[in-house]
Amino acid sequence: MAIACPRCGGTVSRAYSSKAQVAAGLVGAMFYAAFGALQCKTCGKIPRSEFPTEVQTRLALTTTALIVGAVALLVVCFVVLAK
Ligand SMILES: [Zn+2]
Repeated sequence: MAIACPRCGGTVSRAYSSKAQVAAGLVGAMFYAAFGALQCKTCGKIPRSEFPTEVQTRLALTTTALIVGAVALLVVCFVVLAK
């Protein structure tokens, strides 16, 4: 999902933390991706409020999808462990 930076027009990606992944595993990384700031290669972290409403709506949708995925993964883990 390519998002243009509101400041320089460059490519923005979700901030990725390898530390969060090590600490909390895949679910932790997913939550970090869902709530973490967006990162521009040139400008650094960009608050979501600087993006156009349309982009914020798309981000909210993918955030929801990430949370649903993380919760589903947790449920699967519990089911497997309960057996
Ligand atoms: Zn930028």
